[in-house]
Amino acid sequence: MTTPKKADSSQGPTKKVSKREAAFPSEKELFSSLTDSAFEFLETAIDGLLASPKFSTVHFAIAIELFLKARLMREHWSLLLDKPDQGDKAAFFKGEAKTVSPEQALQRLKKIAVVQVPQSSSDIFLKIAQHRNKMVHFVHVGETDDQGREEIVSEQLEGWMALRALLEEWDEFRGYRSRIRHINRKMEGHRGFLQKKFEAKKCELQAHTDAGMHISSCPMCKFQSVKVENSASAIASASCVVCSYRGSEITLTCDDCGAKIRCNSYDGRPDCCPTCDSSISRDQVEEKLNTGEPVTPDNYFDHTPINCPSCTGMGTVVEHYEIYVCTECFSTDSDYGICGHCSEGQLGGVPEDSAFVGCEFCDGSAARYRDD
Ligand SMILES: [Zn+2]
Ligand SMILES: [Zn+2]
Ligand SMILES: [Zn+2]
Ligand SMILES: [Zn+2]
Repeated sequence: MTTPKKADSSQGPTKKVSKREAAFPSEKELFSSLTDSAFEFLETAIDGLLASPKFSTVHFAIAIELFLKARLMREHWSLLLDKPDQGDKAAFFKGEAKTVSPEQALQRLKKIAVVQVPQSSSDIFLKIAQHRNKMVHFVHVGETDDQGREEIVSEQLEGWMALRALLEEWDEFRGYRSRIRHINRKMEGHRGFLQKKFEAKKCELQAHTDAGMHISSCPMCKFQSVKVENSASAIASASCVVCSYRGSEITLTCDDCGAKIRCNSYDGRPDCCPTCDSSISRDQVEEKLNTGEPVTPDNYFDHTPINCPSCTGMGTVVEHYEIYVCTECFSTDSDYGICGHCSEGQLGGVPEDSAFVGCEFCDGSAARYRDD
């Protein structure tokens, strides 16, 4: 039996709420309703894929947008406005104000809220947002055939993995762990759509093995479907023949037991050796992979630290023969750029006008002229 709750007056003096304010939901309520709505759209997207790939894509994109907005909301409600300086709280809380695009939301999370969103995650979120726009504005043909559906499944798997990593990392969503697990189980069902493609690729995978090369398990679609190319060094390029996963595979040798440890650029550096359980530090990885000139007190000031935009690691990138690799997340690139503003290196290059706009790690000189 439940008794009606009395207003709790034991919590000290209550803050006076004006009539105007009482009409708004609180920021906390709005966060919860954005998040609930995001989970609903995600479920509809997954459940509705077979019936309508088009609506599934639209709903998936809306879900991502709502999660980003919910996270931004925890910084300040006005950051959700297209133009925060013209903020009108009444209009916003009534749902009548123009709000940010996914691209703006990502920019504000990075630059204002200083929330780390890996570049690869931003990329897939924006790809899904663009796909949604195309689907809304144009009639598509082919999206309901097997190939069209496989592409959408692959996109959603990648989008969900990126989103899940952020939701698990962001404390604001710690009350939603069971819903995250629930969505994860539903996403597992998506693999069924890729089974046919995996079967069709078996000959190609066999030929790769016959040629003496390695096949790995895909960190994204979980099929044994990643072709690892032969490499003279510890780093080899790897690509899945079933989904859109492209990355690199890194082979390390355990200092303690001598076992080979296969890692990939999707999961990053493992904490310990899977055979003997001894821990693997970033310094150990750096020692194994760095083939560049070691940094000594003599050349310390000539040395350019190279940062990693994928995991926002500072100075975590080292030279490995012809390429550069991040010793934290294992992202690789054939090149790096030097920021015209902060003079630090960035894996994969910096924007052309970096002196003005900066890199992923600084705001550039433009920050000085901004009037916010
Ligand atoms: Zn895959
Ligand atoms: Zn070991
Ligand atoms: Zn990294
Ligand atoms: Zn910079």
